[in-house]
Amino acid sequence: MGKENRFGILKEQDKKFRTIRIRAPAGNLNSKELALISSVSGKYGRGEVCFTSRLNVEIPYVPFDKLNDAVSELEAGGLVIGGTGASVRAVFACKAAFCPHGIINSREAALKIEEKFGGRKLPVKFKAAISGCPNNCGRAQLNDLGFVAFLTPEVLTSQSCDGCGLCISVCKEDAISLNDPKDGISIDYSLCVSCGDCVRACKKGNITPGKKGLHVYIGGRAGREIKSGILYENEISEGDITDFAGKVIDYIDDECTGHERLCSHLERVGIEKLAHRLG
Ligand code: SF4
Ligand code: SF4
Ligand code: SF4
Repeated sequence: MGKENRFGILKEQDKKFRTIRIRAPAGNLNSKELALISSVSGKYGRGEVCFTSRLNVEIPYVPFDKLNDAVSELEAGGLVIGGTGASVRAVFACKAAFCPHGIINSREAALKIEEKFGGRKLPVKFKAAISGCPNNCGRAQLNDLGFVAFLTPEVLTSQSCDGCGLCISVCKEDAISLNDPKDGISIDYSLCVSCGDCVRACKKGNITPGKKGLHVYIGGRAGREIKSGILYENEISEGDITDFAGKVIDYIDDECTGHERLCSHLERVGIEKLAHRLG
């Protein structure tokens, strides 16, 4: 098959050209890879590159008769052409690996899914996103599968609190109040979104990390139709992300055979069958 018909090659308005899409695993490419993309774009395209909403990179305006050479050069440099069609698309990961709000390393988690399932052909496209904290820069709810990390604070009953108020100043939800300068703080858990910022702020160790994990959203989508994913009843741990994603991917492979996106399929049949497989 010619390279023009494979995943990662997109038609343009002008039929003489194609756009090449390069998968950026978890939105990351190193400087050598970026230099190669830049060089191929200059050599075969018009020296332009663009970025997709899933952080992939595209080289537009590649003449049809130069497509094979351009793709071969990119692949020889270890780059993967893809991220289109009915397949496991690039997993979106936020910057939690170095973001001060990061609760889990969303990039590492996304790379694990990529390594195991990235590019797998399915009856329909599958999009996943991982947000490393409740700020949810990954817009998890707008994906077939979305994860949002949380960290619930716990307050010690010791007298270590000196009433400095640092935790109160970082809490955007106004969930913390001083009881009495000598009687520590209280957290209103009905307001708390488990961002963990107060845990990091308290220098006295009076607020400690409690439960940590991920909320899971299933069956969302964006684009032509916008649908918010359903909050799955069980939270999961960081170590379970890949297996959980694998079960949802297998389910789509088995059940979405009528080319129905997961959201439409779940609207039609309900979530019970999928929930049973997820355990
Ligand atoms: S979701 Fe949270 S951890 Fe991830 S980039 Fe946004 S603020 Fe940082
Ligand atoms: S975890 Fe976040 S929302 Fe909850 S009390 Fe602490 S700072 Fe406020
Ligand atoms: S819990 Fe920590 S940050 Fe909050 S007032 Fe007490 S010492 Fe300060």
